[in-house]
Amino acid sequence: MSDRLGASPGLLSLLPAPPGQRRLALGVACLLLAVFLATLPFARIGWFHLPAFVLTQKTLMLVSDLITSALLFGQYSIGRLHAFNILAGGYLFTALIAVPHTLTFPEVLSQTGLLGAGPQTAAYLYIAAHAALPLTIIAAALQRKHADTASDPTDGVIGSIAGMVLAIIVAVTATTLLVTRGHQWLPPLIDNGYYTREARIAVGALLALPLAALLLLARTARPLSTLDLWLIVTMLAWLCTIALGAFISRGRYDIGWYVGSFFDFLTSIFVLLILISQIILLYERQASAAAASQRLRERRINEMEAVLIHLSRVSELGQNVSSLIHEVNQPLTAISNYLAAAMQFLAASNTVRLKSVLQQSAEQAARATEIIRHLRDFIAGHDSEKRADDIPEMLRNAVSLALLGIDPPIPAIEMRLSSVAPSAFFDRVQIEQVVFNLVRNAIEAMGDSERRVLTITTRLTADNMVEISVADTGPGLSPAIRAQLFEPFVTTKAGGLGVGLSICRVIVEAHGGRLYAEDNPKGGTVFRFALPPSAR
Ligand code: ADP
Repeated sequence: MSDRLGASPGLLSLLPAPPGQRRLALGVACLLLAVFLATLPFARIGWFHLPAFVLTQKTLMLVSDLITSALLFGQYSIGRLHAFNILAGGYLFTALIAVPHTLTFPEVLSQTGLLGAGPQTAAYLYIAAHAALPLTIIAAALQRKHADTASDPTDGVIGSIAGMVLAIIVAVTATTLLVTRGHQWLPPLIDNGYYTREARIAVGALLALPLAALLLLARTARPLSTLDLWLIVTMLAWLCTIALGAFISRGRYDIGWYVGSFFDFLTSIFVLLILISQIILLYERQASAAAASQRLRERRINEMEAVLIHLSRVSELGQNVSSLIHEVNQPLTAISNYLAAAMQFLAASNTVRLKSVLQQSAEQAARATEIIRHLRDFIAGHDSEKRADDIPEMLRNAVSLALLGIDPPIPAIEMRLSSVAPSAFFDRVQIEQVVFNLVRNAIEAMGDSERRVLTITTRLTADNMVEISVADTGPGLSPAIRAQLFEPFVTTKAGGLGVGLSICRVIVEAHGGRLYAEDNPKGGTVFRFALPPSAR
C-alpha cells in the first residue's frame, strides 16, 4: 500500500517499514515457524476435551478483530484509500462470523449447537472465517495494483464505510443461513469428531488463499510498508493455523488444533498492535512537535523581548543625545567655574586654594567622563552599576554640585535625613544625577519667590523602600506642564531643553521606583522617589 503514500501523508502504517520493524517481523515469523514445526510431531495427539476454550478464543478474536476493523475504517476515512475499506471489511467479517461460529459449535453453548446447527455447521463456518481475510487481502492488493492513484472522494467515505459494513453483515447472515438451514446439502467435513476426506480437500484449497495473499503482498508491495509487512506475517500465521488446526491434526481438541487456535488468536492481534503502535507514535510525534513549537515560541518571545528592550533603548538615543548635552554641561560648567577661581588663586599666589580648585575641577572632568560612559552603557543595553550605598553622602554631593555656579542669594537648604534609612541599593552616578536635576529645578523655580527654602527629606516607606523627596517653596507646577511633566522636551524655561525630568524618571524606574510630583502644602512642589533597600 506504500505506493499510495503520496495520497495519504497522514498514515504512518503506509510509510516504508523501518529496518527495526523488518527485523521484528522476521523474528516473529521465524518464531511462528519454529512453534509450528515443533508442534508437528504432536499435532495428532488428542488433548483435553475443553469446549469452553472455543468460547474464550472466539470472544477474544471477536473483540480484537472488531477493534482492528474499526481502526482500519478510521484509516480509510483519513487516507481515503479504498484498500483500507476492503481490509476493514475482511476483519469485520472475521469478527462477526465468530458469533455464529461459537453459537453453532457443538458442546459450547448447547450439545449440538444453537441456531438449528447441524454437525457440519461449525466446520463450514471455520472455512468461511478463514477464507474471508486472505480474500480481502488479495482484493485490497489487486485493487491497489489496478486502481488509479487517486483517493476516494471525501464526501463518499461515510457512504463507502456504511456500504461495506452492510455488505459484511449480509454476507455473515447469508453464510450463517446457508450452513445452518442448508447444512444437509453440504458435504460432511467432520465425521465422528474427525476430519473427512472432503474436509482435507476443502482445507487444502483454503490453504491456497493465505499463500496467494502472502505471495501477492510480497511481490506487489514496493517498498514494503509496515502494514504490508505485518499482513504478510499474519498470512504466514494464518497458513500455520489452518495447517495445524484443520489439516495436520486429526480433529478438534488435538494438540495441533489447540496450537492452531492459539495461532488464530495471534493472527488477529498483529495488525491491531501495529495500528495501535502507529497511533501511539503519532501522539508521541504530536506531543514532541507541540513541545518543540512551544520552545520555539518561547525563544522567539525572548528574542523579541531582547530586540524590543534594545530598540526602546536605541529609540531613547535622540533623547539621550540631548541629555548628554544637558548632563555633561553640568560638570563642564563646574569645571569652568573652578578654573576661573583657579586663575584668581594663581594671580594671588594662593597655591593651597589653587591646588584645591584644580583638584575639584579634575573630579568634575572625571564625572563628565563617567556620565558619558553611563549613557553609552545605557544605550548599548548594559545594566547600571547598582550597589548598596550611602544616602546622606550621595545627597550632599548632589546638592553641592547643584549649587555650583548658582547666582546668589542661595536658598536655605534643609536636610531632614532619617537615621533609619542611611543607605539604599542604587547606581551612585545616576541617582546623583536625579537629585542634581531636582535640586536645580527647585532652585530655578524659586528664583522669584519671597521665601526660598529647599527641603530634602529621606524616610523609610511602609514597604521598606528609602524615599527621597525634594521640596521647594516656588510657584508650583503650571497647569500646562503638570500633565506632561515627565515628557521629554517639555520646558517653560527660555534656555531649557526639557529633558531633565524625563531622564530622572527613566533612571528611577530602572531602580524599580516611581518618580512623581505633588503640591507642597506650604506652597511650591515636592518631587518624590523611592529606592530599594540596601539589603537587596
Ligand atoms: P528643563 O529644566 O530643562 O526645562 P525639566 O524636565 O527639568 O526640563 O523640567 C520640565 C519643566 O517642568 C520645567 O521647564 C518646569 O516648567 C517644570 N518644573 C520642573 N521642576 C519644577 C519645580 N520644582 N517647580 C515648578 N516647575 C517645575
